[in-house]
Amino acid sequence: MIINAAPDITPQTLTSFYRPLLDQASEFSHPPVSNYKVGAVVIGNSGKAYLGSNFEVKRGAYGDTIHAEQFAVTLAKLAGETGIKAIVVSAEPCGHCRQFMMETGVCQLPIYFQDSQNKAGPGQPPLWKETSLGRLLPSPFTLAGERVNLYTHRPIVRQRVGGGPLSRAKKILVDRALEAAAQSYHPITKDTWAGLAIETLNGEFATGFPIESAAFNPTMPPLQVALVDLISKGFRPNQIRRAVLIEPVSPDLSFKDSTLNTLKKLAPRAQFSCIKGR
Ligand SMILES: [Zn+2]
Repeated sequence: MIINAAPDITPQTLTSFYRPLLDQASEFSHPPVSNYKVGAVVIGNSGKAYLGSNFEVKRGAYGDTIHAEQFAVTLAKLAGETGIKAIVVSAEPCGHCRQFMMETGVCQLPIYFQDSQNKAGPGQPPLWKETSLGRLLPSPFTLAGERVNLYTHRPIVRQRVGGGPLSRAKKILVDRALEAAAQSYHPITKDTWAGLAIETLNGEFATGFPIESAAFNPTMPPLQVALVDLISKGFRPNQIRRAVLIEPVSPDLSFKDSTLNTLKKLAPRAQFSCIKGR
């Protein structure tokens, strides 16, 4: 969900505006394994606020999980933000998210969360804590000389290769997947771009591409990014009718098998195909 005009963060707005917004974000959480709901709000340079919630896949893998901070940071990217100004979270960000948020390029990103260890008194809500990404992760894993970040890197046009003629329905998905692939963010690896297009049972679309973390594991694969797009548009993963993934002929790391495996858990009857591109 996107809020058009988010107020500046002050002690008053944290309680009156952002706390209810976090509750709203948490309502979209889907944690069937941990039952632990997290909400996050990212404020973009445009002044818009992006709500994020955590998502887990029942009988899936640890790596299928989307953290609330990853969700909100990704939603801001999908909306075309040029950068982000702050993040508010319902709980202290985990180490995985601290490393992932380094891809925003803002070491001093202000972070606000309710500190469960610090209450004004018994029965009182936790007090707010203000910190920064740099203070939460003073020695991040980065590559020396890296200047690009998730919000400012330039798209690279991708094309389908081979595979013969396509039906009209499939061509629509392939075109969207190629458009998504152009947005791939993979500053460390060379051939790890990809684009995923999803069609829902009622003919709506969602798309995704990889958002690579310098430390690899916090990377958001194309399916997870497409799920952020899908869920934020109000759809459920079991409403996926078909999906098309485009990736290089010889990728450094492939998303094909992991996308298919996770898709089988989320939407067992969905059709899936992988097409090569360059
Ligand atoms: Zn996390």
